[in-house]
Amino acid sequence: MAKKTKRRRAKGMGKKGQIKRTAGRKSAGARAKARRRAAPPKTITVASVNQNRRTIDLKGLLLLEEAEKYVYEVGGESGLKIFKYLVEKGVVEESHMARELGVEKLNTIRKELYKLFSRGLVAYVRKKRGKKAWYTYYWFANPDILIAALKQEYQDEIEQIKKAIDLNKVEEYYICPVCNRVYDAKTALENDFKCSNCGNILTHIDTEKVLESKQERIRELEKKIAYLNTFIKKK
Ligand SMILES: [Zn+2]
Repeated sequence: MAKKTKRRRAKGMGKKGQIKRTAGRKSAGARAKARRRAAPPKTITVASVNQNRRTIDLKGLLLLEEAEKYVYEVGGESGLKIFKYLVEKGVVEESHMARELGVEKLNTIRKELYKLFSRGLVAYVRKKRGKKAWYTYYWFANPDILIAALKQEYQDEIEQIKKAIDLNKVEEYYICPVCNRVYDAKTALENDFKCSNCGNILTHIDTEKVLESKQERIRELEKKIAYLNTFIKKK
């Protein structure tokens, strides 16, 4: 039985779903080795990763709608899927990840991973296997970059709103009640207080209300920043 299995392996006739990237290019021994390498790691032996990894609640971080959006903008749908998977699993060997996510080619998942890696959202450690010159890659999600990017995003928006508030204090605005177009006082006067789009009479914007909603948004953003800070403190 053992002999049969060995011969099967030597011919490269692995079970369905196994990584076939080496087929035709590498020796039978290398293919068998590649399959052994592809086995899910029982324990993560790359101690430095675990030591340096922060024990932060990454799932909690993903609760921020902007967090998902940010990852999506970097890696697209598949990138977000990979990122969420790594958040869930921790440190994962790449061919194991490919199998679990149903990605047939290792190169495909590598391309996705490098997209995220180029922006610092994931990182890896590699480990040499045996005497041969290739490495096994272990990937993990890297929250630091995401936290910093989101914080910057929130702070930028607060700055923008504050500028708009200053402007609102000195300027009068008018709005079309039908198509909601906003006009500054000068344009409204030039248009005879009529909407240039639909001709309706413009109404004066209640500046107090506008300011209040802007202040509310600032408070919301400040809460989000405070939430982000809780992740930074949990070192
Ligand atoms: Zn209008």
